[in-house]
Amino acid sequence: MSVITDTKLIAPHGGTLVDRTVEEFPDGWETLDRIQLTSRELSDLDMLACGALSPLEGFMGREDYDSVLEAMRLANGLPWALPVCLSVDEAPRADQVVLADEDGAGYAVLDVDDVYEYDKEREAQQAFRTTDDAHPGVARLYTQKPLYLAGRVTVYERADRPFPGLAKDPAETRAEFAKRGWKRVVGFQTRNPIHRAHEYLTKVALETVDGLLIHPLVGDTKSDDVPAKTRVECYRVLIDGYYPRDRVVLSAFPAAMRYAGPREAIWHAICRKNYGCSHFIVGRDHAGVGDYYGTYDAQLIFDEFEPHELDIEPMFFEHSFWCKACGSMASAKTCPHSGDDHVFLSGTKVREMLEAGELPPKQFSRPEVAEVLIEAYRT
Ligand SMILES: [Zn+2]
Repeated sequence: MSVITDTKLIAPHGGTLVDRTVEEFPDGWETLDRIQLTSRELSDLDMLACGALSPLEGFMGREDYDSVLEAMRLANGLPWALPVCLSVDEAPRADQVVLADEDGAGYAVLDVDDVYEYDKEREAQQAFRTTDDAHPGVARLYTQKPLYLAGRVTVYERADRPFPGLAKDPAETRAEFAKRGWKRVVGFQTRNPIHRAHEYLTKVALETVDGLLIHPLVGDTKSDDVPAKTRVECYRVLIDGYYPRDRVVLSAFPAAMRYAGPREAIWHAICRKNYGCSHFIVGRDHAGVGDYYGTYDAQLIFDEFEPHELDIEPMFFEHSFWCKACGSMASAKTCPHSGDDHVFLSGTKVREMLEAGELPPKQFSRPEVAEVLIEAYRT
């Protein structure tokens, strides 16, 4: 895949879009030891393959890992917010291993650089700001194997992607943006169905740039999150009915959710920079879960970097709603009226209505989106 250079798009993180894919497996690879990756590690592998995690070329070594935990930077000083590590039970016997899925199918070869011990509680505290094993990201960390295996990966076989038609690598989204003549593109991360509030903030953002990348996360999420298939259908009907086709790209973001809140917001922004986004929407409690993070923590953490250091520009948003007195969508930043004028429904209330086959008010949800959700709850 050729790397697009002749555009005005933002440069990838670290300057070069990584491509760790190779067509043919090397001779003798079948005889190498195999390491089985979890689904989260496999989605990280796929993101390493296609450059979504540029400048990383493999699973992190000790220096990068320590520096990321302590300083939110790679060892070379480049901002980076979350570990991208591969856990193993023991050190490999050879200097190469095959990375396989849980059924044993091989995808990549890792050149062993280092094997090191790590402290799960320390990683939990630094990355997730809690050591509570009720936190889904911390719980997953605690089930990991005891050592981290570091090294550059070469990927021969890409993992099956849940939405092949939406699976665009960073080089492909960049090519698409360039073809459309876009320079400034805002990325929107989502793991929930889009209601009017999210439609509003994506459109407010789009007013200031050339294009919008709606980039739903399709890797692992909590079992009580709305399934990716349903969410993708919601985005499709919403885009068909309410967005100009030539201003929007819908593509799947293959990452698994970590629920690391603030640090994940930084990580999500850096990944989107690799996909060619110059701007990134950060709402309240981005990538949060339960009560582990303050409402604005995922916005405030951007202040820990120098201005323009990340290059991609975060766009911060408030909770928004339909205001009857304004006669429009609004937020606490733009509407002076009291809550009585605001159309507000709790997540629980919306779910109850949809499960009962009722459409929420159209000021809250587009009926086309609500119909998709009603159908999903029915089955
Ligand atoms: Zn108002």
